[in-house]
Amino acid sequence: MSCGQVYSPSYKLFKCPRCGGLLDVEISSKHWAPKGIGVWRYASMLPLKKGITLGEGATPLVKSNLAEGLYVKFEGANPTGSFKDRGMALGVTVAKESGANKILVASTGNTAASAAAYAARAGMRCYVVLPRGNVARGKLMQAALHGAEIVMINGLFDKALEYVVNYGTKYAYPLNSFNPWRLEGQKTVAFEIFEELGCPDYVVVPVGNAGNISAIWKGFKELAELGLCNKLPRMVGVQAEGAAPLAEAWERGLEEPLFVDEPRTVATAIKIGRPINWPKAVRAVKESGGFFIKVQDGEILKAQRELAQRDGIGAEPAGAASVAGFLKAKLRGVVVAVVTGHALKDPDAVEISAKEVRNADELMELLEK
Ligand SMILES: *Cc1c(COP(=O)(O)O)cnc(C)c1O
Ligand SMILES: [Zn+2]
Repeated sequence: MSCGQVYSPSYKLFKCPRCGGLLDVEISSKHWAPKGIGVWRYASMLPLKKGITLGEGATPLVKSNLAEGLYVKFEGANPTGSFKDRGMALGVTVAKESGANKILVASTGNTAASAAAYAARAGMRCYVVLPRGNVARGKLMQAALHGAEIVMINGLFDKALEYVVNYGTKYAYPLNSFNPWRLEGQKTVAFEIFEELGCPDYVVVPVGNAGNISAIWKGFKELAELGLCNKLPRMVGVQAEGAAPLAEAWERGLEEPLFVDEPRTVATAIKIGRPINWPKAVRAVKESGGFFIKVQDGEILKAQRELAQRDGIGAEPAGAASVAGFLKAKLRGVVVAVVTGHALKDPDAVEISAKEVRNADELMELLEK
C-alpha cells in the first residue's frame, strides 16, 4: 500500500517485505455469484472458494426505532458474538492452508474469543496475548472455554500487538487485522448490506485498530468495480474520546494520527492508542467522502441503553459507539450503523437495579402502578 510493490499471493505475506507497510489483497478473478448463506455465500469474491465455518455472517439488518432512515447491522449475532468471526473464517482457513499449526493474536478480547473458537474448529492451537485487566469478562471466558492458551501482559493492547508483530510471527500464524487475508472475510458485511438495502448513504463503524472500516469500504468498492452499484456510501469512523487518535487528527486537519499512549474508554474493544491499520482507514474515509468523529463514554452508554430499550438490540459498549456517532453527527438519509459486538460480552458495563417484594400483595401493588 505505501511503496506500490506488487507480490504474487502468499498466505505467509502479511506486511510488505520491502517497506514494512500494509498489504492489500487484489482478486483478479472475482465475480458476483452469491450462493448459499453467510460469509462463504460470497466465495466468488474471496481468495478461497471454501473453508472453515461456524455459520458466520448472515446477521440481522434491523430497521431502527431511534431515527428515520437508520438501520442496525447487528454483528453481535455472529457465532462468537462479534464481526471478528467473518475474518476468522477466512483467516484460520488461510493459516491452515499455509501449513501452520499455531495461531497467535493480540486482543482486547473479541479477536481472542473468535480465534479460539475457529482454531478449535480447525484443530489448531491458539495463543492469545491480552492486556491484563482490560478484557471484558465474557470475552476472556470464551477464550478459556475454547481452549486457547491465554497469555497476560502488563500493558495495554498496543503493547500486546507490538509483541505479536515484532516477535510472534516467526513462531505462529498471526491473525490480527494487519493480516490482509482476514480483512477479506470482513468485507462480506458490505455484500450483505448491499443485497438487502442497495447502497446506503452512510455506513457508520466503530474504529479501534481500524481494520474493519477499511474492509467494509473494500467490499463496497468491489461492488462498484463490478458495476453492481453506481453510488458508494460515505464511511464514518467513530472513536471514543479517550482513544481517538484518528478522530482527533481528523478534527484538526492533520494527515497523520495523533497516537495516544494511555487510551481510556469503557468501550474496551476500541481502547486502542496506535491503530495499526490507520493508513487504510484514512484512505477509506477520504476516498468515500466520509469523516471520523469522537464520542464520549456517556454518549456510548446512552446509545447502548437506547438500542437495548427501544430496538431490543443488546450491544457491548464498543458496538453501540456507531449509534452514538450517528446520533452525534445527526446524519440524514439511509444510514447503516454497524453494531459490532454483543452485550453479553461485557456484563460489567451494565448497572443492574432490582425492586424487592416481600409477599404476593406487594407484587400485585407493584404491577398495578
Ligand atoms: C474489534 C472490534 C472493534 C474494532 O474494530 P477494528 O477493526 O479494530 O477497528 C469494534 N467493536 C468491536 C465489538 C470489536 O470487537
Ligand atoms: Zn512496500
